[in-house]
Amino acid sequence: MNKITLYNTLGKEKQIFTPITPNKVGMYHCGPTVYDYPHIGNLRSYVFADTLRRVFEFNGYEVNQVINITDIGHLSSDADEGEDKMTKAILREGKPMTLISMREIADHYYSAFRDAQKDLNIISATTYPFASDHIKEDIEMINTLLAKDVAYKTSRGIYFDTSKKDDYGKLGQAEGDESRIGEDSEKRNYKDFAIWKFDERLGYETPFGKGFPGWHIECSAMSSKYLGDSFDIHTGGIDHIPVHHNNEIAQSECAHDGAPLANYWMHNAFLIFDGGKMAKSSGTFVTIDTLKEKGINPLAYRYWLLTARYSTAISFSYEALEDAGRAYGKLIDSVTAILRKVKTTMSAHADTDTTDESNGDTRLESESEISKNYRNNLLNFINDDLDTPKAIALLWSLLKEIEMGDEEKIKLIESFDKVLGLKILEKAVEQKKKEESLEEDLPEEVRELIEAREKARQEKDWGEADLLRIKINELGYKVEDTGADSKPRISRV
Ligand code: AMP
Ligand code: ZN
Repeated sequence: MNKITLYNTLGKEKQIFTPITPNKVGMYHCGPTVYDYPHIGNLRSYVFADTLRRVFEFNGYEVNQVINITDIGHLSSDADEGEDKMTKAILREGKPMTLISMREIADHYYSAFRDAQKDLNIISATTYPFASDHIKEDIEMINTLLAKDVAYKTSRGIYFDTSKKDDYGKLGQAEGDESRIGEDSEKRNYKDFAIWKFDERLGYETPFGKGFPGWHIECSAMSSKYLGDSFDIHTGGIDHIPVHHNNEIAQSECAHDGAPLANYWMHNAFLIFDGGKMAKSSGTFVTIDTLKEKGINPLAYRYWLLTARYSTAISFSYEALEDAGRAYGKLIDSVTAILRKVKTTMSAHADTDTTDESNGDTRLESESEISKNYRNNLLNFINDDLDTPKAIALLWSLLKEIEMGDEEKIKLIESFDKVLGLKILEKAVEQKKKEESLEEDLPEEVRELIEAREKARQEKDWGEADLLRIKINELGYKVEDTGADSKPRISRV
């Protein structure tokens, strides 16, 4: 296996990745709270998770990937305060205050989340467990924590006693986070948090009282069910570090006799909106549908995200996304131009759905030195804490590379796209087919003008070539020259 280094929030340094089980990697990504449509900031978390998964698969690992669905128990503040987000959605949508309504809302927004994932070419996770389907597991874990005397009951719920965990908060704390924890005289320590919240009106009946699990316990219970007590990588946005992830660690490690919850903790930086964090609660958030309405391809958003490291904060603007859209279009154009020059039909493999492919890399049987160099550089970049900006810069140099055959180039582009997930070949094949069908249906008059223009160009009669281009234009067609040794590209004006 190649060396992969990752920045571990636990320890605050880049570390060489060592899996718990050779050749396998288990990862848990804190999933969406499905009370509204995901905004593109949330989706940055899952493009990051998907890139991480693709990097491991590229290196030949078998990946077990879990993204949970929070459909109950997430209050509007991390610190057990405020309204429940799902209850708020029931009120907003005028539904009866029942668990059935809650699930209907969850199903609706879960499916919107999955659609957004598809639009961003995110490979399906292995499992998407819903919190509401895991009450039994929550109860078991809460009982274990009560039995170990690291949890206690108050009139409001069951709380975790943070003083019982020596290294509580080891992932790091937010500046001034103490002010965010509400006063509660029944709590033993101000940082203690609810693992079960009582609710007489709505909730699940349990031996310790009716109510809902705390948001943190849901993740602890589901991750251990699907990945074991200890697994390799846990991710989320940086906002989860001080409260949610520290609390997950505290509960899981106490319940599992000190076994580390995860060996590597990775966090994506924020997509900053109007100088602040883009938040669902503010009501002004941009979704994938907003992008589509503005004519921005969701894959251009993915491309834009990958031009920055996952750990760098980036500021949203439509101008930035429009630039990314142009760059993405240029990328597809360049690859289409290469495809046009390749004699053998490459479409067979380009058409295959990369999401269904097992793992590993593609290459020609006898690969040239230069191609090997590109491949090694790609691997070095992505294995260095997911340096996607360098991988994208390398892809652009590859497109301009004059020392490599086109077929070998296409094979390499396919490899790049396994990691980047930009549907490069698929889109280029589509574009090429469109161009071909347009060429087949060209009116005879236009075809003759194009041929005459080609002849003029070969004879270096630029004046005549220009005149013919204008005539072609008047008939509703556009010709673009794509290189000295290839045919011009024809499209409709
Ligand atoms: P939520 O649905 O609020 O639980 O958030 C889902 C994921 O999105 C979490 O991992 C958050 O940390 C992450 N997240 C929320 N807002 C942003 C943002 N503006 N940029 C990047 N990630 C975010
Ligand atoms: Zn979580």
